[in-house]
Amino acid sequence: IEEAFRQSQKMESVGQLTGGIAHDFNNLLQGITGSLNVIKKSIELGKAIEVERYIDNALNASFRAAALTHRLLAFSRRQPLDPKPVQVNPLIKTMEDLLLRTLGENILFELDLDKNLWETLCDINQLENAILNLAINARDAMPDGGQLKIKTENVIEKKFASSDEAEFIRISVSDTGTGMPPDVIERAFDPFFTTKPQGQGTGLGLSMIYGFTRQSEGFSKIESAVGDGTTLHIYLPRYEPRYSSLPVVENKTTSDSV
Ligand code: ADP
Repeated sequence: IEEAFRQSQKMESVGQLTGGIAHDFNNLLQGITGSLNVIKKSIELGKAIEVERYIDNALNASFRAAALTHRLLAFSRRQPLDPKPVQVNPLIKTMEDLLLRTLGENILFELDLDKNLWETLCDINQLENAILNLAINARDAMPDGGQLKIKTENVIEKKFASSDEAEFIRISVSDTGTGMPPDVIERAFDPFFTTKPQGQGTGLGLSMIYGFTRQSEGFSKIESAVGDGTTLHIYLPRYEPRYSSLPVVENKTTSDSV
């Protein structure tokens, strides 16, 4: 029931969003038709002086409209998952350069990786995207600099209050940024929910992480308080190769093994 409720809330925000996008798209379209009209008039009147500026306006709005639909498509397309056994620590290490560049010079970057971290099964590209998205959010929450820490550990947790305990690896991305008030925490995983200025946030980062962790049979959690910073936890199930998938050893005493 709780899940159904969350789902219906999500659908509601998708509805709000589609309205919002349609509105933005319409504005861009008006800019384009407006510019085209001016161009047409100026050609009719035989004065082509300012035409170039209006062509640029129209082109600009067209590009932005295309970007908008791309984002929408990328979101609605169910990205196929390609789950594979993953060792998360080495993966994070390979991302270190990218993360440092993303964070810039004013943010201190720290890793705290559990040497005995279990393996997990998930789509590596999506996990990389998730970590990068979390780093970008953290950076945006620390405009005056701060600290970002990525921690990995093995944990035993319940997915839902009613679930049995199970083994997960936990990737926690913590920042010393602005933190989130309760009403933002409530909506942060909703698709297209953003508090960032127009053009800067898509509101898709956390909702993609929500989808990715769910499809990987894990979950995600926000721990945040205004003034204290934010920690985003990603839980992914422990993966243990099954004995049954090991190659079967043939009995070598039989004659046909020669
Ligand atoms: P976007 O980053 O495009 O806004 P997200 O889904 O990634 O979309 O985040 C949704 C909202 O959650 C953000 O607009 C911001 O208000 C809040 N948020 C996410 N991460 C953090 C963070 N690390 N610190 C503070 N607020 C955050």
